[in-house]
Amino acid sequence: MKILVTGGTGYIGSHTTLALLEAGFEVVVLDNLCNSSDAALHAVEAICGKSALMIHGDVCDRPLLDRIFQQHSIDAVLHFAGLKAVGESVRKPLEYYESNVCGSITLCQAMAAAGVFRLVFSSSATVYGAPEQMPIREDFPTGTPTNPYGQSKLIIENVLRDLCAAEPKWSIALLRYFNPIGAHASGHMGEDPSGIPNNLVPYISQVAVGSLHELSIFGDDYPTVDGTGVRDYIHVVDLADGHLKALQSISTRSGINVWNLGTGDGYSVLQVVRAFEQASGRSVPYRVMPRRSGDVAECWADSSKAQKELGWKATRSLQEMMTDTWRWQSNHPRGYQG
Ligand code: NAD
Ligand code: UDP
Repeated sequence: MKILVTGGTGYIGSHTTLALLEAGFEVVVLDNLCNSSDAALHAVEAICGKSALMIHGDVCDRPLLDRIFQQHSIDAVLHFAGLKAVGESVRKPLEYYESNVCGSITLCQAMAAAGVFRLVFSSSATVYGAPEQMPIREDFPTGTPTNPYGQSKLIIENVLRDLCAAEPKWSIALLRYFNPIGAHASGHMGEDPSGIPNNLVPYISQVAVGSLHELSIFGDDYPTVDGTGVRDYIHVVDLADGHLKALQSISTRSGINVWNLGTGDGYSVLQVVRAFEQASGRSVPYRVMPRRSGDVAECWADSSKAQKELGWKATRSLQEMMTDTWRWQSNHPRGYQG
């Protein structure tokens, strides 16, 4: 089977490309490299001895998409491509809606024209907003995202829902990721954020490696175990496996299916800092700062639906996530550049 992976040189896309190649799929990657480099695919090849075909281009480029579908017999699409920085989305809403929403619509139009109706979409737990109850189940109502990034994910989910309602040939998985972290166990693939990281674990690992001075902890007065925010961190390799299971599952289903991809466990910022210090043997200096606007106190998944319906469960512990992050960061202090 041949799979088109949009955003396949990015953090989650590259780990999933590796998992696909290892499972025997052929992979065509489409990426405009706005937040990644094709070095990630060189690492994939070095690890598994197989390569994906890389096409440098934009998911909003309909003629290019048409050519890809004409030249390759694509069976399904894993759609990771998009912009993902929450703060930047507030400053550049049009870029976010264009890349994320228009990109997804253009992709679906090209897929329909080519007769390809299987799609796995990268959604996010952000679509739940701030639920009153934990853990979060897929049947909880979606909330009101507080930024254009979150809005774009919710809009795309709704577009895909309407598409499935209108045309029964579609089979679409909406995968709502919780907090993907970690790196491939080889130490040669991982997250390589450009500029100063926004997310907790890349920030901590850059403090530990000496590239950043200290961590700011955004709030210690939440109603949580130690006052800091609680999240469901999931190893990126477990997440990649979840995509393969979803891909398998949508080939025997139709319509829209929503699955949470999380571990079901929540950890506080301070628990993550301690786990990272233990894994790296380095200390992570921090300072408590005011809460970050838009943050929820806690967020973790009920992942039993994915377990029941996909036969998928995250297996890697927080300690493993930290160890693998540190292996990647210490081997490659400047990410794929060195
Ligand atoms: P990433 O930035 O590493 O990967 C996204 C890739 O898409 C990049 O390689 C980028 O160059 C490419 N891209 C962006 N816009 C494009 C366009 N218009 N055309 C072609 N390529 C384009 O991000 P990631 O962490 O791997 O995330 C992958 C997907 O998962 C994204 O859709 C993101 O919103 C979603 N997601 C990520 C997280 C997370 O915490 N990492 C959480 C929930 C959902
Ligand atoms: N966080 C923090 N300092 C940072 C980045 C994040 O204290 O530099 C906290 C944030 O407030 C949240 C948790 O870490 O409680 C996870 O944040 P992240 O941005 O990684 O993911 P989010 O859940 O916001 O998507």
